[in-house]
Amino acid sequence: MNIKHHPSDAWLLDFACGNLPSLFDQILKAHVDVCSTCKEVVRDAERLGGELLDTIGQSSTAPIEMCHEKYDNINNTSDDASRAESTGHVADLEKLVSTYLDSSFNALPWKSFGEGLKLCRLIKEDNVQMWMLRGQPGVTLPVHSHKGSELTLVMKGAYFCGSQIFQAGDIEEADETVEHQPVITSGGECICLAVTEGQLEFKKVLPRIVQKFVGI
Ligand SMILES: [Zn+2]
Repeated sequence: MNIKHHPSDAWLLDFACGNLPSLFDQILKAHVDVCSTCKEVVRDAERLGGELLDTIGQSSTAPIEMCHEKYDNINNTSDDASRAESTGHVADLEKLVSTYLDSSFNALPWKSFGEGLKLCRLIKEDNVQMWMLRGQPGVTLPVHSHKGSELTLVMKGAYFCGSQIFQAGDIEEADETVEHQPVITSGGECICLAVTEGQLEFKKVLPRIVQKFVGI
């Protein structure tokens, strides 16, 4: 498994510091568990946190300046764009998948979101929701934007978004500034775990009507 799409450093830093709502924390943990590259970034961030705690009080530099200085050092060595492909362990992802995709997978309360696309809301905490998405080969999702952050982890199969392809283990980030329309590749069924903040904003009327029933 070659992981090519990682969460940004900002997400990983918040993850390392334990600053995230629990559903975002869970989906990032699922990625970090199978991604050696991100595991290293998180380890660096945790070390930075420990060093900061040690040096605060011994220095006249304000903690926030110290943090920026140290973070810049990390950032220079682990820039997202320059990250090498990460080789995760398929077995780990399979373990993760089995956590969610056990024998009752088919019995989950799936709701149809158009032909070949099913959604199932797993958890809702305040305005953050965790979803499982299941799309058949070649299915095009409705074009949409967001009212907050969205992280999508591919668990099985793959999808295109514009010219990029997201495969098992990859994370796609989106927010208010992103409008996208994932297309499942022809290779097979695609299953994703997604965490969304606020409701999605669909551009066309039909998905907006279905949205009323599904709640995404
Ligand atoms: Zn990663």
